[in-house]
Amino acid sequence: MAYLSRTMAKKVQKKTEKKVKVDKAVKNDSKTKPESKIKFQKISNDRKQAIEDVVKELVNEEAIPIVLYLIGRTKVSEFVIAADLNLEIHKARNLLYKLLEHNILYFHRKKDKIKGWYICYWDFNEKIIPFQLEKIKTQKLIKLKERLEKESSSTFYMCKNACTRMDFEKSMEFNFKCPECGELMDEQNNVRTVEFLKERIAELDRDLKAYGK
Ligand SMILES: [Zn+2]
Repeated sequence: MAYLSRTMAKKVQKKTEKKVKVDKAVKNDSKTKPESKIKFQKISNDRKQAIEDVVKELVNEEAIPIVLYLIGRTKVSEFVIAADLNLEIHKARNLLYKLLEHNILYFHRKKDKIKGWYICYWDFNEKIIPFQLEKIKTQKLIKLKERLEKESSSTFYMCKNACTRMDFEKSMEFNFKCPECGELMDEQNNVRTVEFLKERIAELDRDLKAYGK
C-alpha cells in the first residue's frame, strides 16, 4: 500500500489493537483453564499404542485424545468432552460420530429435563480395539503380499529423472520412454524393495499370530 488516508490508518490501528486484546484474552483464558487439569488415566504403552494405531487408521489423529480421555470415565456428556479437550462442540460431535461409526465408542441419549433437548453421553468400547487392530493388520498384510507378488514377478523400469516407475508391459507401451519428461527409462533393481516387503510381511505375520494365541 503506497498511500493510506488518515481515517484508514486509524482504522487499521484500531483493528490491530483489537487483535492484540483478543490475543491477550485468549491467552488469559487458557491460563485459567490449563490442559494439565484434565486427568488422563495412566495405561500401558502397548495398550496406548493399540488404541492410537486403530483410531489413526480408522478415523484420524485428532480423535485420539477423545478416546484416551474416556478411559476410566463413563457416560460423559459431549459438552463435557468438548470443554475438557478444548474442542468446539461441532468439532467434538463430528469426531465422536466418526468414532461411533467404527464401534470405538457408544452412547446413551438422555433428555435434559430443564432444557428439553437430548444430550449424548459417551463411553469407550475398548474391547473392539484388538479386533479392529487385527482387521487392519490383515488388510495390510494382503496388500503387501499382492505388492510382493507383483514386484517378484515383473521387471520394473524407472525414469532417470525419477518421475515414473512402471512394470515391463507398461514401459513397452511407452517404448521405454518416460511419459513425463521423455527420458529413457532404465531397468530398476528392486531387490531392496522386495527385501523390505518381505520384512514387513514377516513382521505382520508375527503380530497376527500373537493375536491368535
Ligand atoms: Zn521422467
